[in-house]
Amino acid sequence: MEEKKTAIIEGVTLTKYKKNFSQNFLTDPTIASRIVEESGVSKGETVLEIGAGKGILTQFLVKKGAKVIAFEIDRELFDLLKNKFEGMDVEFIFEDFLRFSGNIKADRCVSNIPYNISTPIIKKLFDFEIQSMILMVQKEYAKRLMATPKSRDYNSLSVFVQVKSKIEQLFEVSRKSFFPAPNVDSTVIKITRTNETENKIKDMKKFDRIVRAAFSQKRKMIRNNLKGMDMILIKAGISPNQRAEEIPVEKFIELSNLLSNDTF
Ligand code: SAH
Repeated sequence: MEEKKTAIIEGVTLTKYKKNFSQNFLTDPTIASRIVEESGVSKGETVLEIGAGKGILTQFLVKKGAKVIAFEIDRELFDLLKNKFEGMDVEFIFEDFLRFSGNIKADRCVSNIPYNISTPIIKKLFDFEIQSMILMVQKEYAKRLMATPKSRDYNSLSVFVQVKSKIEQLFEVSRKSFFPAPNVDSTVIKITRTNETENKIKDMKKFDRIVRAAFSQKRKMIRNNLKGMDMILIKAGISPNQRAEEIPVEKFIELSNLLSNDTF
C-alpha cells in the first residue's frame, strides 16, 4: 500500500513529521472525542497530557473544562500549540517528559503517547499521584500489559503494572486513523491505580528485582533464573520447575516478602 504523503487535520495540511520523536498524529477527531468521553474527565480536573502533538486531544480536554498540563518535546509543535491555545487553561511544557524532574499533581493522565518509550513513560507516571491513566498504546503492547499467567504475552511488565493497578481495554483504533499511518494498530486502555495489592509488598525495590530476574530467560525453569533458591521458592508455593510466565502476581509477592530479610 502506498503511504499517504499528506493529511489534513482541521483544515491544516500536514506533510511533516519526525520519526525520531515517534510522531504519528491522530487525524480522526471522533476518536479523540471518544477518548476524552470515556476517560471520565470532568470540569475542573487537572489532566496531564504527554506528547500533545498538534493538540487534537488537548482541544477536547479543554472543551470538557479540564485544566491541562501538556508536555511536548518538539519545538515547532510547542510553538504551534502555544499559539493555538492562547488564553486557554493549558500549560505547555517544552521538555522531554522522561527528563522532567519536578512534581506533577493531576487527577488523570490522558494521552496518545509516543510508542517507542511507552514503558519508561508508564513507569514514570507511577511515580506521581495520578489516580487514572487513559492511554493510547500499541495494540500488542496493551495485550502484554493485560496478560494473565500462562499466556504468551505475560511478562515482567504485566506483573509490574498489575500489582499497582487495574487495567481495562476501552477500544481499539485502526492504524488508518493516524498520519503517518504506523505499521501497528492501537488500543486505548485505562489504568486505574489500586493500592491494595501494592500495599502487601514489603519492599518494592526487592520485588522489582526478583520479578525481573525471574523473567530474565522466559523459557527457562525459574530455578535457572533464581539460582540456589529452591527452598524459598517452595516455601512461596512455587515449584522450581515452573517457568516465570506460569506464576501469578500473588506468588511473586509472597516470594519477595519471604526474601525481604535477605540480601537479594
Ligand atoms: N497526541 C498527539 C501526538 C501523538 S505523536 C496526537 O494524538 O495526535 C507523539 C507525540 O509525542 C509527538 O508530538 C512527539 O513530538 C511527542 N514526544 C515524543 N517523545 C516525547 C517526550 N520524550 N516527551 C514529550 N513529548 C514527546
